[in-house]
Amino acid sequence: MAGTGSLHDLMRHYDQHLARLEDLRALLHEQLAAATRLRDARAARRRTAAVEEALERMDRGCYGTCLRCGALIPFEQLRRRPQRRRCDGCTETGQGRHEAA
Ligand SMILES: [Zn+2]
Repeated sequence: MAGTGSLHDLMRHYDQHLARLEDLRALLHEQLAAATRLRDARAARRRTAAVEEALERMDRGCYGTCLRCGALIPFEQLRRRPQRRRCDGCTETGQGRHEAA
């Protein structure tokens, strides 16, 4: 069923994808601002680094993919914590080290 219809679908998905990325980018910048207000300097540094890394992944076009299983992380999960590097499944079953939100 690959015809012009699917191309339109593709474009629409792409537009939606871009809109969501912009949404998440704004959230990341909010996180960055919030990190500077953290009283714990170490936590602030860690948070800042995580968010900057996420922004960098966004610029490279590899944002939103689970580092562990390679699956695309659902938008809703990213909205909850935009700097995340793993999907929910991998965060839960992941190695002992649990990155707190
Ligand atoms: Zn995963």
